[in-house]
Amino acid sequence: MTRCGFELGHYRELLEAARAGGYRLAFFDRDPGPSDLLLRHDVDLSLEAALRMAEVESEAEARASYFLMTRSVFYNLASPEGEMALARLRALGHRVGLHAAYPHVDLDGRFDPAVAWHNPDPEFMSTPLDGVANAMEPRFFSPDRYRSDSNQRWRHGCPHEDLAARRFDWLQLLIHPEIWAYPGRTMRETMFSMLDAERERRVRQLMEDRIDL
Ligand SMILES: [Zn+2]
Ligand SMILES: [Zn+2]
Repeated sequence: MTRCGFELGHYRELLEAARAGGYRLAFFDRDPGPSDLLLRHDVDLSLEAALRMAEVESEAEARASYFLMTRSVFYNLASPEGEMALARLRALGHRVGLHAAYPHVDLDGRFDPAVAWHNPDPEFMSTPLDGVANAMEPRFFSPDRYRSDSNQRWRHGCPHEDLAARRFDWLQLLIHPEIWAYPGRTMRETMFSMLDAERERRVRQLMEDRIDL
């Protein structure tokens, strides 16, 4: 493995590294134990990016936990596009939890009983919820067993080597699909690539909505 770029090619290598290290994919439906890898995706911006990542995982026979928003300003889970994304994630065997905007917990039949807060404040981030897994409550989170790609910055470096060498007994790995699915050498470039793709998507939607272009 060479450079650790935020691109789907290297994401594939991360999955391979986890396999080489002997990890098995686990979900937020029980306490994690030795060799468990909790692969978590918070979908903040783009369902299309989530689906692209989900297909890569499916090819690698990997299953992840996708946390989707019901109150996003970027996508509408209740739209036909949102329903199709949800159905595709399920068809590929992934789990789907709620990426919740505090204090709203809009859990319904679309979701497994699992919540990950969007941009949480420390006051409620780790508080266990009644009958529902909170991805950041103590049984799922400890600083030594957690890695996140937020804003294309790994606080402790890309974890592929540590995974391949089995340096975690178990790990929660938070990956945001948007920052891997679109090209760019910086977060800004990646976000602008996403916006270019969004524009094309919006043009298609205008035509489908019978707007005369
Ligand atoms: Zn890497
Ligand atoms: Zn979020």
